[in-house]
Amino acid sequence: MTSTAIPPTGADLCVHCGFCLQACPTYLALDDENDSPRGRIVLIKALAAGTLSASDDAVGTHLDQCLGCRACETACPSGVPYGQLLEDTRATIIAARPIPFTSKVILATFANPWLLAISMAGARLLRALGITRLLARAPGRLGLMMATLEATRRSVRGGSPAARARRGAQSASAQTGALAPQRARVAVLKGCVMEGLLAPVNRATERTLARNGFALCTTAGQQCCGALHAHAGDRETARRLARANIAAFEQSDAECIAVNSAGCGAAMKEYGHLLADDASWRDRAAAFGAKVRDVSELLAAAGPAPATGAPVNAAVDFPCHLVHGQRLSDPPARVLAAIGGLRAFELPDASACCGSAGLYSLTQPALSQRILAPKLAGIAASGAAVVTTGNPGCMMHIAAGLIRSGSNVQVRHPVELLDAAYEYDACQGEGQER
Ligand code: SF4
Ligand code: SF4
Repeated sequence: MTSTAIPPTGADLCVHCGFCLQACPTYLALDDENDSPRGRIVLIKALAAGTLSASDDAVGTHLDQCLGCRACETACPSGVPYGQLLEDTRATIIAARPIPFTSKVILATFANPWLLAISMAGARLLRALGITRLLARAPGRLGLMMATLEATRRSVRGGSPAARARRGAQSASAQTGALAPQRARVAVLKGCVMEGLLAPVNRATERTLARNGFALCTTAGQQCCGALHAHAGDRETARRLARANIAAFEQSDAECIAVNSAGCGAAMKEYGHLLADDASWRDRAAAFGAKVRDVSELLAAAGPAPATGAPVNAAVDFPCHLVHGQRLSDPPARVLAAIGGLRAFELPDASACCGSAGLYSLTQPALSQRILAPKLAGIAASGAAVVTTGNPGCMMHIAAGLIRSGSNVQVRHPVELLDAAYEYDACQGEGQER
């Protein structure tokens, strides 16, 4: 048996203490040491040593069932960089254990701007025709996929004609940075799913940043961040996308890159690691990563400008790649604290993975739903009208689960709530003027 020559970087830090076990969703769901962080690290070391083969189905299954949620990293007292270890391993064993066909097609689509645009247009058409709503509670994968698309539906925002006109002006200002900004020049990552299916979240992000004094820079040539590819082991495509994004954002003259998708932000902050072996891109990648900020980091640092907003009970959930991948939980709380009417409270398992995890909800549907179930129960018990979380995958996965369970609870990004509160206040002020 030959060694897979996986760089054991970080694996040797594991002292087998087991502190990570109770943080691991797959260990809790499956009660199998091989599906725990500690167990998987043993498998990874055995692969590196050549005592296990990457073509061994059992080994592959245990690695495939890992969500990559990185909750084990936060729990680990020894500092095992588990997320990078997993990605390194998946990239190394890809020859012996190729990416499944369906995942390959999805990854190829996301890596090609034209295919991505066509597929997103098709998804929006299904949504506009009401097909996603009709089939959202169908059994099996079809129902799950339709519910996930239906979860991206946003009603056309209301308000008076004057409020809509003001919003339009504000949006236009956001495009040109014409609000006499006093803070940093910021370029916003459009993202693939965010711009394709959740464009109102991007527009809310732009308005909210402009409202808080940031100057928005336009950035042509952006592509998918490559996080899905890196997580799946397709590191070469992830690197190609990273280089394209670095080159695009370097043209923008931005001081910071604002990201409203926690998964993308975590991956982009780690471009330096992704391109560490590429001498001509290594330094640019590290410099780029240092400029990436979650939108909540920027807003929290800015204040943010207070709003009253409508009185709403909102349950707060944390995307894994925000709270574990980027170690950020305070900034979203500070964004929500700016909304006076909002009664925000954390779900009991706010930092636990929802089961979305990139392509995981498609590749491991049964386990993904099992991991989601306690989250849905917590939401139902909380009495919340809204759940707020800052990652498109989590937003869609949780909302799909709520739709399929017959719940009316909505899922919104924190910046959507702040943006809506600004608009609510503007409409209230307008009503008083009349
Ligand atoms: S907590 Fe860290 S050191 Fe302990 S078993 Fe888990 S990965 Fe290893
Ligand atoms: S990344 Fe998540 S699912 Fe994978 S071992 Fe760590 S805690 Fe468990």
